[in-house]
Amino acid sequence: MPDMPVLGESEKKSPIAQVAVIAAIVGTVAGLGYWVTHRPGSTPPEPVAEVAPAAAPVDAAPAASAPSVAIDQQAPIANALPMPSAAPAMPLPPAMEGKPRSGPQTLSVSITGPMETAIVGQVGRELGGPLTQVINRSLVWWVKVPGDLLKGDSLSAVYEAREGQEPLVHAVRFTSRKFGKTFEAFRYQGKGEAHAKFFQLDGSSLEEHLTDAPINDYEQITSLLRDGRRHKGVDFKAPVGTPVRATFDGVIARKNWNFRGNGNSIELQESGGQGRTALYLHLSEIPKSVKVGDTVKRGQPFAKSGNTGHSFAPHLHYQLMKGSTVIDPFESHKTARASLASEDRAGFDGAVARFKAMMPAETVAGN
Ligand SMILES: [Zn+2]
Repeated sequence: MPDMPVLGESEKKSPIAQVAVIAAIVGTVAGLGYWVTHRPGSTPPEPVAEVAPAAAPVDAAPAASAPSVAIDQQAPIANALPMPSAAPAMPLPPAMEGKPRSGPQTLSVSITGPMETAIVGQVGRELGGPLTQVINRSLVWWVKVPGDLLKGDSLSAVYEAREGQEPLVHAVRFTSRKFGKTFEAFRYQGKGEAHAKFFQLDGSSLEEHLTDAPINDYEQITSLLRDGRRHKGVDFKAPVGTPVRATFDGVIARKNWNFRGNGNSIELQESGGQGRTALYLHLSEIPKSVKVGDTVKRGQPFAKSGNTGHSFAPHLHYQLMKGSTVIDPFESHKTARASLASEDRAGFDGAVARFKAMMPAETVAGN
């Protein structure tokens, strides 16, 4: 088996390489190593790419002897991802221009092909890739990306480019021809909330959450099965050390297999019920007291999230399987949507008004 490529270093030095093919060794299935040329920022969500058979190993049913080799190829964009100031889309410093260098900017594109192409066309490649990924995290709650995107759809957003971090998106508006409607969400941090969230105009949160969640205190879901990136799990961006919980009553079936890829990891086998298997990857620590064969109760914290193994930023990779088939936690587990607290309504409305004023007048959905 070849050695693990040093991804982080080479990327920092060469932004071009970042958007080119980056290969990562992802481990073995039945003794065979395979390459996956896919990681955040490296592959535009082009429809063509989604049906290309070349990447079949990622989704191919693993051999029965190793049903849960689960390498996380879709860790969130590292917070440390550099945004070179030379990027063409970066505005000039305040001293050099009337407008502030940082601060909210407006994106407004119409879709004529891959969404990333449209976004890159407006803001440049350096920012366009990461910005597409962040915007995608909102879009996937409304439409399938890229499956539901049609020529003539339009997308507006208010975002901020940030030095050394992925861009911050404040507002997203998407007009879908397929659904004949416009979707909007605005980022807002309610009083007493640890993290800002996207809310829709009716006050419902954009993201669903799992009622029996593997992790409660997370910042954002950065990868979902439905986002068309061929990733087997759901990634929850969360600080190292956040408690990780059992999503059902079960037995610890495995611990720390394939450490290089998965890092500290736990496989939980559901007792009874649907007989599902849950994989928790990239954990920071697993208490010595947690042993294979232990039974755990739904909701019980048994480990802490981390950034171990093949992971680019602190997050929990949670993967649900039935036999060797990967299933979507957001379809298999119960879900709910939070609502904006009434005391936050006025503040939220103010934010909405501010961001709406920055976006172009709404386009009318239609064919
Ligand atoms: Zn993951």
